Amino acid sequence: MEFALVDGSKHEPFAGGRGNCEMCGSSMVAKCGPRVMHHWAHFGRRNCDPWWENETQWHRAWKSQFPVECREVVHVANDGEIHRADIKTPTGIVIEVQHSAMTDAERLSREAFYQNMVWVIDGTPFKQNFDLYHYLPDPKSEIAQDLIWHKAKRHLHGANRGMFARMSEIRLHEPNAVKATYKGVAEVHSLFRADSKIEAAYRGHQQYDWVRPRGTWLDATCPVYIDFDEDWLARLETYDETGLLCIFRVAKQKFIHDVMTEVSADDIATRFYRLPNLD
Ligand SMILES: [Zn+2]
Repeated sequence: MEFALVDGSKHEPFAGGRGNCEMCGSSMVAKCGPRVMHHWAHFGRRNCDPWWENETQWHRAWKSQFPVECREVVHVANDGEIHRADIKTPTGIVIEVQHSAMTDAERLSREAFYQNMVWVIDGTPFKQNFDLYHYLPDPKSEIAQDLIWHKAKRHLHGANRGMFARMSEIRLHEPNAVKATYKGVAEVHSLFRADSKIEAAYRGHQQYDWVRPRGTWLDATCPVYIDFDEDWLARLETYDETGLLCIFRVAKQKFIHDVMTEVSADDIATRFYRLPNLD
């Protein structure tokens, strides 16, 4: 861990350091060898939190974006269950920063425990299996209501550049056609020629294909943000009533601002704020 209690306050590891675990109270020893990431370890026993994942530089880099008091925050549920959140913001949003794969059972128990939480997933181990394709208009825009998109899939070169049918055309022949259930054949259009109305409605949504996905993240009940080591995060979303999956790009700076500002995890990156320190 990054912190132990030393003389009652959170302390980073230091050579020869001794402290206590904030969660279980047992003794901890600082590990500050030349070839390890400096950390605290429980004396002679495993970590007291079964959910704890050994930290990587990636974990530390995420946590370092937040004030010390927001990192490794002990969280106690009403029934007395206790865990250590990676990050908990002053507004009460928990951020779990996850590098390894996870079972459905563990994901569900953490979501039930923290409730108001988001996942930040290290996407670099599967980046080669995660293809990003064409942009999609804002699903709330007027134009989006008219379009049925073909699902992008690796090697489907047409769909990957953007292929769609128009409800307005379908309804000329089938006045009662409903987008969510439309299964007929329709004239197919493509984005190969730029469509200014669709482009103008772009706000960050994009089609993707995740080959051999880590499926638990597609089933998550809390928002999932994938970090591909870019300056934006890919939030997993369902685009529209057809069930089409998409990502929504959120600038990291926006994410970090919003988790410190919003009260509900679902409101992150849903509102416009003038961000400080943008030049
Ligand atoms: Zn402990």
